[in-house]
Amino acid sequence: MKCIRCKKKAVITLKRHNAAFCAECFLHYYRNQVLKNIQKNKMFKKDDRVLVVVSGGKDSMALWDVLAKEGYNVVAMYINLGIGEYSNRSQKVVENFAKKNNLPLIVKNIKEEFGLDIYKLSKTLKRSPCSVCGTIKRYLFNKVAYDNGFSVIATGHNLDDEAATLLGNILNWGESYLARQGPVLPQTHPETYKKVKPLYTLTEKENMYYVLLNKIEFLHEECPYSVGARSILYKELLNELEEKSPGTKQRFLIGFLENGKKHFKEVENIELKECKTCGHVTTTEECSFCRLTKVSNTVS
Ligand code: SF4
Ligand code: ZN
Repeated sequence: MKCIRCKKKAVITLKRHNAAFCAECFLHYYRNQVLKNIQKNKMFKKDDRVLVVVSGGKDSMALWDVLAKEGYNVVAMYINLGIGEYSNRSQKVVENFAKKNNLPLIVKNIKEEFGLDIYKLSKTLKRSPCSVCGTIKRYLFNKVAYDNGFSVIATGHNLDDEAATLLGNILNWGESYLARQGPVLPQTHPETYKKVKPLYTLTEKENMYYVLLNKIEFLHEECPYSVGARSILYKELLNELEEKSPGTKQRFLIGFLENGKKHFKEVENIELKECKTCGHVTTTEECSFCRLTKVSNTVS
């Protein structure tokens, strides 16, 4: 098969676009997709300070690399979640990349800095590790952005993630979630930040090709707590559909964003307050992060 752009021998086939590319033209296609997503959705400009959240996985490493190479003003942030060897290995991957490419990196460690243990907290509170983890990450993203004067937070969510989230939200008729789902989550308060997903039209596979072709080190293993997550089941179901009908995920997500989303609206009217302990913005008297810290102090 020949590359549709330069007619050299193709090494990558993208069935959903009915296209094949050589390595060089695939990277050209990939960069163009990212730049188009950023511009079309007005995510950020070259002079915005962008905080890129990285986990050491292929998606966030691809995002970090492409934004840095395209000359955006990016600083990466890595959170060590204290999940055994998984966290130690992912931190190493991220630090190696920053050092090799001379890129700025902020590292937070939830056990060392805040005494938080996801496993213990999830057992004590009878919540899933991912729910505890989500609370901690959301708080730290905003806090780091606030403390360091960033204007926007970028994450490596891809087309597979977004389509799986959409499927979950539809199966549960989460009206507010459907109203909010999209590549840009606007800023709602001076202490919360616009969150953007520049890779939302690129698949996991395409991000994988990008890191492999660029010889970017990444952590192949998934977080041990992701095993059995509902989102993985949704991804598997969508993969089956995609296999039989290429382009399904893209039609599902983009079709929703263009035609379906407008029919949903946020149902709750949320009042934002200042947390009585840390002062950060929250919807309750004390923010959920400070509550977790208190529980953690009583169980340790
Ligand atoms: Fe956190 Fe769950 Fe993701 Fe692991 S899988 S990093 S616990 S949200
Ligand atoms: Zn607080």
